[in-house]
Amino acid sequence: MQLPRIKYEHRPRRLTDGSIRIGGRIYGLAFEIKDPDGQIWALLELLDGSRTVDQVVHHLIHQFPELRPDDARSGVEQIIAAGYVEDAAEVEPPGLTSRERERYSRSRNFFQWIDLVPRETSWHSQLKLRRSNVIIVGLGGTGGAAALALTMSGVGHLHCVEPDTVELSNLNRQILYAESDIGKPKLDAALARLQAVNSDVAITGQRLEVTSSEMLADLIRGFDLLVMTADSPPDIRTWASLASNKTKVPWVHGGYSGPMTTAGCYIPGAGPCYDCVRITSNENQPEVTAEWAGDDRSAHSANAVSAGLTGYLVAHAAIGALTGVPALPTNCTLALSLVRQDHAVIHSADACREECPTRRGAS
Ligand SMILES: [Zn+2]
Repeated sequence: MQLPRIKYEHRPRRLTDGSIRIGGRIYGLAFEIKDPDGQIWALLELLDGSRTVDQVVHHLIHQFPELRPDDARSGVEQIIAAGYVEDAAEVEPPGLTSRERERYSRSRNFFQWIDLVPRETSWHSQLKLRRSNVIIVGLGGTGGAAALALTMSGVGHLHCVEPDTVELSNLNRQILYAESDIGKPKLDAALARLQAVNSDVAITGQRLEVTSSEMLADLIRGFDLLVMTADSPPDIRTWASLASNKTKVPWVHGGYSGPMTTAGCYIPGAGPCYDCVRITSNENQPEVTAEWAGDDRSAHSANAVSAGLTGYLVAHAAIGALTGVPALPTNCTLALSLVRQDHAVIHSADACREECPTRRGAS
């Protein structure tokens, strides 16, 4: 760190009790520091990107002669280690063109805000995305929004897998398609739309229905991440879990049950698998002894909001998995209700279980 500067997003504020809050106002990012003698405020003011660490220490000791140089240096190092500081002397990194830097300038600011790990470059997360190879299976309501967000966010390569054609009843929620696409393969419309949004991303695809976990494993091998946003056949998430375990490719998924939107990231070997979380979560529900039969109308309840939010939560989980920013919990599933917005739960399990399909499939 040549010229340490407090990130604009984390700029400190003095509070009425004399303490300092740094890191903005967001829970999980902000931190409050006691500052009875004004030394911390003075230190933060010196971290404006015009001085080296040595010069900051020198100035601080000049202002506070009673301060020991080692303590002053330790204070600077703690602020840097806490992730509130960028390097004003940073040079633009290779790996992103000037056009990409302009396109992603707001994304960089966003990552700067949410990232409390000191980085060599403020483009850390964008570079990670640029180098990533992602496969997405299912380009409906959830998958379409996820694919759009990942394309706009600047993944390096997005490979799309989708077998269906566009229908009028898709257009209440599936963001990639227009009326002029009705009757055409979703894949063709999706590839054209995604490429039009961001020509710096390599967009590829195949019109294909996944019919087994073995087929899925062959499809995803070599990618950095699987985004599973297909909801049929019914076993497709179990297949994703099996294929991920076999290939060691992490996967994210998302979906909805009416107003309950869900998303999660599963990394093979890092905790219980998707099925064990699902089984454990179902066990916490009262047992059902009878259920009314459904009809066509009950088959699919979704709108642009439920599908879109789910897709964006999936994309957020994917970006977290690819960049480490933010470091979201993995091997669990977040559920967020659109009816009671104060209701969010994380479904998890202590470990994989005896009856685990993924474990059985792996042995
Ligand atoms: Zn399991």
